[in-house]
Order: sequence, then structure tokens, then C-alpha cells
Amino acid sequence: MTRISLLYCLLFTLILSAQNETYQLENKNVLIVYGGWSGHQPEVFATKIASWLEKQKAHVTLSQSTEIYLDKTVMNQVDLIIQHITMSTIKNLESKALQTAIKNGVGLAGCHGGLGDSFRNDTEYQYMVGGQFVKHPGGQVDYTVEISSPKHKITEGINDFSLHSEQYYMHIDPAIEILATTRFSGAHDSWIEGIEIPVVWTKSYGKGRVFYSSLGHSEDIFEIPEAWKIMLRGISWAVRE
Ligand SMILES: [Zn+2]
Repeated sequence: MTRISLLYCLLFTLILSAQNETYQLENKNVLIVYGGWSGHQPEVFATKIASWLEKQKAHVTLSQSTEIYLDKTVMNQVDLIIQHITMSTIKNLESKALQTAIKNGVGLAGCHGGLGDSFRNDTEYQYMVGGQFVKHPGGQVDYTVEISSPKHKITEGINDFSLHSEQYYMHIDPAIEILATTRFSGAHDSWIEGIEIPVVWTKSYGKGRVFYSSLGHSEDIFEIPEAWKIMLRGISWAVRE
């Protein structure tokens, strides 16, 4: 084999391995619960994620009500819960059932307000997620996501990237493992100039794995390859093994 054909062969293998990222979700039972503030288009998000999961051969259940957290048949079989409910409220028993499932090893994944700004008066829920949205100064702004853990499975090979969207300022649980952050310019609130806030994190809650990304105000955010890849890898990372 000549040196040039060897080089082509190597390049081809590299391209193939980049495309064939495996997610190991085959036969996993995934529950997607969506609803809340309509500005975040929960149904669009749920449908997009469900169709991707079905391509991975996962078994998907969709629900528009947190009542499903009380359904023992579903909850006893589920490997991962993806929740997309901005604000809204949850009944105490439903929230407790969700927390118990995660404590016992079910994964929990989500993004933006759908996981990081749900049920504002439920502090135990926030304790499970690891952070709570409080403000996006300036509304839609230009900002950069900086990868802080380049060796983690979820962020490896991903470079820093910029976007135009809501830059989430969050109250954070120090128990999270931070994978990516963003820095605030102070243009809208001068006293937060230079403050760094996590964008992507993982954490444990009992035996359960929790994954969160603050990216995802609108569907077009997931057309940014880095944001979409982080989401998919996070989902795959959080699922019960
Ligand atoms: Zn938003």
C-alpha cells in the first residue's frame, strides 16, 4: 500500500468512527414527560427526542402529565426519565415518586427550563436536579460555552462554541460535576461581570445519574452540532446500566 492510499484509508476510518457514535440505548425504557410553559415548545422537543430514541431502538413512552410518576407499572420498568416541563406545578406525591425512582437508579436527563426551571416551589426537586434557573440577563444574547471537562464522555472532542440564545444564570448545587460553563459580560447587570455559571453538568442522586444542559430555549439550538451532541451523549450517559 502506498503512503497516500494508507493516508486515505486512515482518514476514511476516522470519518467512519466519528459518524458511528454509539449510544447504547437499545431496549432501554425511556419515559418522556413534557408540558408547562408553551414558549419552550415542549411537544416539539418531546417529539424530536422521541424520534431519535426510536432510531436507537429504545422503547419510548410519552406523557403530558406528571401523574405518570405514580404509575407503578411504568415506573418499575423505566431506565431513564427525560422531563421537559417549564415552571408549572407538581403534586407532592408525584414529585416524591419521581425522586424515589431516581434514588433507586433510574436516570434523569433534560435541558433548559424543562428540567432546570420546573416546579419553582419544590426545593427537594431542585436538590435532585442540582441547579435552578433564576434569570437570563438581557434575554437573547451572544455568548460562549466553554468546555471545562474535555475528558468526560459527554464533552470529549467538543470544542468551545458560541450561540445566540438565553444565557441561563442559575443557582447551583456544589455537588454537581461541571462539564461546561459560560461567563457573563456584565452588559445587562454590571455586578455579575466575569461570573462563570455552569451550562452542562452531571450529578448523582442516590443511585441515579442526573444530566442537565441549560441549552435548548428553541428547537434551532439543537441544530448547533455541539449542543445536540452534548444532549444525546448526556441522555445516553444518564440511562440506568
Ligand atoms: Zn427559554
